[in-house]
Amino acid sequence: MTGENTQKRIAIFGSTGSIGKQALEVIASNSSLFSVEILTANSNADLLIEQALKFTPNLVVIGDESKYLKVKEALASSHVKVFAGEKALEEAASMDCYDMMLAAIVGFAGLRPTLKAIEAGKPIALANKETLVVAGDIIMQQAVGNRVPLIPVDSEHSAIFQCLVGETRNRIEKVVLTASGGPFLGKKPNFLVNVKRDHALQHPNWTMGAKISIDSATLMNKGLEMIEAKWLFNLKPEQVQVVVHPQSIIHSMVVFEDGSMKAQMGLPDMKLPIQYALAFPQRIPNAFPRYDFRKPNTLTFEEPDLKTFRNLSLATEALFKGGNLPCIMNAANEIAVFAFLRNRIGFLDMTDLIQRTMEKVDFIPNPDLEQYFESDAEARNFAASLIHL
Ligand code: NDP
Repeated sequence: MTGENTQKRIAIFGSTGSIGKQALEVIASNSSLFSVEILTANSNADLLIEQALKFTPNLVVIGDESKYLKVKEALASSHVKVFAGEKALEEAASMDCYDMMLAAIVGFAGLRPTLKAIEAGKPIALANKETLVVAGDIIMQQAVGNRVPLIPVDSEHSAIFQCLVGETRNRIEKVVLTASGGPFLGKKPNFLVNVKRDHALQHPNWTMGAKISIDSATLMNKGLEMIEAKWLFNLKPEQVQVVVHPQSIIHSMVVFEDGSMKAQMGLPDMKLPIQYALAFPQRIPNAFPRYDFRKPNTLTFEEPDLKTFRNLSLATEALFKGGNLPCIMNAANEIAVFAFLRNRIGFLDMTDLIQRTMEKVDFIPNPDLEQYFESDAEARNFAASLIHL
C-alpha cells in the first residue's frame, strides 16, 4: 500500500482462469480494500479485454503475441497499457505499480513471473502450486532472502496456514491434507480405462480449470499438494499425510506434538481462501453460504487407494527423493493431461507416461534453476515423443 491510498494494489497473473475470475469477484465486492493494477492472460483476449474495461488496471499482458493488436485496439480509448509475450509477463512482475501478486497462471509457465515478483519483493498469494513443485527450494530461499510472504491460495494449504496462525513456536507433528477423491472415488482400473475427458472434468465439489480438474481425478493434484506443503511449511516428507474426505468440509488439518489437532472447515468455495490470502492478516466479512451443523450430515475419512490411483504413489516417490524428480514428474504430467484433454491418450495412460518419464530423465540431487529448466524441457520432450505429440 502506498501513500494515502489504503487499497492494496493487486496484480492477477492468470486473470482469465478459474482462480483469476473468482479473485476479480472478491475484489469487485471489496473495492474499498483492493484495486486491480495488472491483469494477464495467455490467449483469451476477449475476456482479458472485458476485464480490463471493467477494472481499468494500469497494465494488461497477453501471452500470445498474435493477439496483441486485438487487445491494443479494443483498449485504445482507455488508459490501460498493453504488453504481449512471455518476457512481458516477467517485466510486468518486476514493476513497482502493485503491492501483491496473485499467482494464478496454471502450470510451469507460472514459475518465471512468480520468481520475478519475489525478486522484486512482492508478497505472493500463491495459487500456482506447480511453481513450488518444480523449484520449491529456490522459491523458498528467494522468498526468505527477499522477506517475501507466500500466502497459499490452495484450499488445503490455506487451511494449514490458518491453523498455524499463533503457533510459530510450536512444533508440527504432521499435516493431514484432505482429498475429495475426485469424480472417480471408489472406481477401479477396469472402469477408469474407459473414462473420457468430459466425465473426468466433472469434479463433485469444486469448479476449477481443466488441468487441475484432471489432476484431481487422477489424484496427481494431491501429490502436487504434498510437495507444495513440504516447501511451504518446511516439513519432512514423512510429516505430510493424505486422507480422503469426500465431503470437502475439512480443508486440511495440523497435528501438533502434543497430539492436539486443528482443522479449518467451511463449504468448498475457492473465493474464501482467495479472499483470505488477498486480505491477510485481516479477515473480511462476506455473504458466502455457511456450513450448517444442524442439518443431518456425515463427515467421513478413508485411506486413498494407491493401487488404483498410482499418480499419488509416483508423487510420493518424488516427494521423498526430491532433487529434480518432482520437476520431471510435473512436466510429464502437464504433457499427459494436455494429451488426455485432447483425447490423444486414455485415463490410465497418463500414469504410464509419467512413470516412464521419471525413469528416463537423469536424476539431479541438487539442481540449480537452469537445471530445473533443462529437466523440465527434457521431460516434456521425452513424454511428448512417447505419444507422438
Ligand atoms: P485455468 O486453466 O482456469 O486458468 C489458467 C490461467 O493461466 C488463465 O488465465 C490462462 O490464460 C493462464 N495461462 C495458461 N497458460 C499460460 C501460459 N503459458 N502463459 C501465461 N498464462 C497462461 O486454471 P485455474 O485457475 O484452475 O488454476 C490456476 C492455478 O491455480 C493452477 O496452478 C492450479 O493448480 C491452482 N489452483 C486452482 C484451483 C481452482 O479451484 N481452480 C484451486 C487451487 C489451486 P488463458 O485463459 O488465456 O488460457
